[in-house]
Amino acid sequence: MIIIIHYNEIGLKGGNRDWFEKKLVQIIREKMRKDGFVDFEVRRIIGRILLKIVDQELGIKKDFEELLKKTVDKVEAILKNTFGIANFSFAKEVSQDIEILKKECWKLLKNKKFKTFRITTQRSNKKFPMTSEEINREIGGYIFEKLEKKNLKPSVSLKNSDIECFIEIVNKTAFIFMKKIKGPNGMPVGTGGKALAMLSGGIDSPVAGYYGLKRGVDVDFIHFHSLPYTSTASNEKVEALAKKLLKFQLKAKIFMVPFAKIQQDIVMNCPEKLRVIMYRRLMLKIAEKIAQEKKYLALYSGESVAQVASQTLENILSTNDAISITVLRPLCGFDKAEIIEKAQEIDTYDISILPHEDCCTRFVPKHPETRAKLKDVREAEKNLDTEKIIQEAIEKMEIIKIS
Ligand code: ATP
Ligand code: MG
Repeated sequence: MIIIIHYNEIGLKGGNRDWFEKKLVQIIREKMRKDGFVDFEVRRIIGRILLKIVDQELGIKKDFEELLKKTVDKVEAILKNTFGIANFSFAKEVSQDIEILKKECWKLLKNKKFKTFRITTQRSNKKFPMTSEEINREIGGYIFEKLEKKNLKPSVSLKNSDIECFIEIVNKTAFIFMKKIKGPNGMPVGTGGKALAMLSGGIDSPVAGYYGLKRGVDVDFIHFHSLPYTSTASNEKVEALAKKLLKFQLKAKIFMVPFAKIQQDIVMNCPEKLRVIMYRRLMLKIAEKIAQEKKYLALYSGESVAQVASQTLENILSTNDAISITVLRPLCGFDKAEIIEKAQEIDTYDISILPHEDCCTRFVPKHPETRAKLKDVREAEKNLDTEKIIQEAIEKMEIIKIS
């Protein structure tokens, strides 16, 4: 079985292109291994990646068809969730010979029903004696004749043809295929450094983490919990969400930080209206400290401007003021409905809507401040021994590894 994999954006990289391509190859290889494939090969061939799965992997003749389908499904699931891939195709390898190419194209098309068709050639091996255009015309003409002999009268249509046969002329060989399956685009995970995503258990934060991964960032997670006042089920939910994102990366860590005592400190020492902002500031400070110690380059948060009281620009300013590390908010311009749609697509939604107790819902004031003043917030924080709070939280946190 042969799969031709195309990428987009990494093809635009200048001097670094090699490195990006190698990373993508490595990720595909590791994901295949993780999914139980043994006899396969992944390598680069001018401007694309070739994945070859040895036929023995497909089992003995008797159940060949069934195994073939299973393998196709597994490969599709892997590649559709590998960032960096623009599209991929199950292809057939044939000799670089125009007569053979004609016959192979005809084999692909002869039993299909269509009114219009087109042949689309990409010639990466410029030594091949015909141009792409000439190949299209020659093979198109051949298919035409064959169809006429069957008394069919199809026509070539370059726009919106019913059927398309792709030919790729590479180094010493050629590939033909009929279908391009969409990949997720983005950049290969691991090419963008590492970041810490703040994962709450709600709908938004896993989607924010997804957008980190999409741009090639290696994402680990941090969650603040109020055990024993909230249930262990809430922590399990967060773990389940992080695991859902494992289809985009190979492994991740979750930093589980106890937050109950910190909340009590805040409740006792800060104005009621500012509680939620103070929770957020402390969360960010702790996350920043961990990031500095463990070399994370940024934080990700699921905030969307104006979604709730704590996400007005004033309040984002007041929380962001606590730290100097970059906080990326990929959902800042999303409507809730758009976030939900994405959560459904990446399959985190059903877990996110399970009931859970977020630590932030403890001791929430009836009328939280929607437009906090920075001066007041900074003043309120003076009532807390933040250094000690951060240190204690980090000492007591647990690290869960998932893969
Ligand atoms: P979400 O659906 O992600 O919970 P939300 O709309 O409920 O978001 P908030 O509760 O205001 O919004 O949280 C904003 C962001 O702060 C979250 O998206 C998340 O990144 C972070 N956050 C909130 N609570 C926690 C928590 N307990 N642990 C880690 N991060 C949190
Ligand atoms: Mg929330």
